[in-house]
Amino acid sequence: MSSVPSKPLATRERLSEVRYEIRGELARRARELEAQGRKLIKLNIGNPGAFGFRAPDHLQHAIADDMDRTDPYTHQQGLPAAREAVAAYYARRNMPHAHPDRVFIGNGVSELIDLSLRALLNPGDEVLVPSPDYPLWSAATILNDGRPVYYQCDASNGFQPDPSEIETLVSSRTRAIVLINPNNPTGATYSRELLQRIVVIAAKHRLLLLVDEIYDQILYDGARFEPLAPLAGDVPCITFSGLSKVHRACGWRVGWALLSGATELITPLHQAMDLLGALRLCANVPGQYAVDAALNGPDTITALCTPGGRLYETRRAVIEACQASEHLQLVAPAGALYAFPAIVGDAARQFDDYRFALDLMETEGVLVVPGSSFNVPYRHHFRVTLMPEAASMREVFSRIDRALSRHAEA
Ligand code: PLP
Repeated sequence: MSSVPSKPLATRERLSEVRYEIRGELARRARELEAQGRKLIKLNIGNPGAFGFRAPDHLQHAIADDMDRTDPYTHQQGLPAAREAVAAYYARRNMPHAHPDRVFIGNGVSELIDLSLRALLNPGDEVLVPSPDYPLWSAATILNDGRPVYYQCDASNGFQPDPSEIETLVSSRTRAIVLINPNNPTGATYSRELLQRIVVIAAKHRLLLLVDEIYDQILYDGARFEPLAPLAGDVPCITFSGLSKVHRACGWRVGWALLSGATELITPLHQAMDLLGALRLCANVPGQYAVDAALNGPDTITALCTPGGRLYETRRAVIEACQASEHLQLVAPAGALYAFPAIVGDAARQFDDYRFALDLMETEGVLVVPGSSFNVPYRHHFRVTLMPEAASMREVFSRIDRALSRHAEA
């Protein structure tokens, strides 16, 4: 028998630059506490199913009805019927180039973010990423040998990006601008004027626009959502969305990417993505049968986001709790499934968001995500999902306030 090596296996070095705290150390500690019998309220993951939301019946039926056709691999870009449904949905929204050939179906938007950056980047290339960001964007940039360069979206400015700042960050290595609209974690939505200014920058510097619109229909209080691609026209753009959030089917792992922009500009990227898609054969097939039902069936999300609806009422409870607290300040989320409050006043003294999150879990049984997990240069925010019932959220915020009062007095 050969001897067992004494040194652990080395792993990819650049992983040390990557964090995904939403499912990181705090989540691991939460499982430990739960194994000891502690009851926790976990607000770390945007997982609708974990909060009692179900994928709409007509989506479930669509999969069940076609289950006996789901065993073969599909084309690497996805099932034709799913791609046609995506193209038709975006054509109704005036997307340029909304053709099934330009659609990729993936195992969630997550896979397509990675695949598109893998297709795009060479070592040392830079990607302009919002800060805060959904951390997969930074991680996928780094793991595909790129470098995220952050543009700031600060609470003092309603978490809006500043196009002039974005332009100052463009270098000879910049390849793309990432936008997340509506935003995770801030809930900000972007106006047509703002997006138009960003398109001008992309056109001027020949950059690809990567727009994550996975929360495109989750909007509150009359907030408007502007899709980017119709404004981008011939400027190369990839629009990402999927079934996970609006359709509450995140476990099915279905996302899509629509490539737009002038054919001669986007074709090399299209071919590269097609090759990478072929190497992984195809996306999970059963879920693809729900895409047409989701995009061409009845609207099931608006009722949840308007007065009386579950998400609306929970968001209202969070806004009211933050208004009533001397320790918290919140830019009310216009869309998406999260709130990103700031700690202010005495409680903000020497505040460390990670230590606070750990203490909150240990003492009050509430798991939140520290703001610094979203690649921000400050440590006085945290993120919660808006998915529990409003009453449960009121309880959560009274516990948060209690923990912050202790911190303010310390
Ligand atoms: N993009 C954003 C902004 C998200 O918030 C998430 C999940 O929370 C994803 C992408 C990943 O979505 P999917 O379930 O489609 O992989």
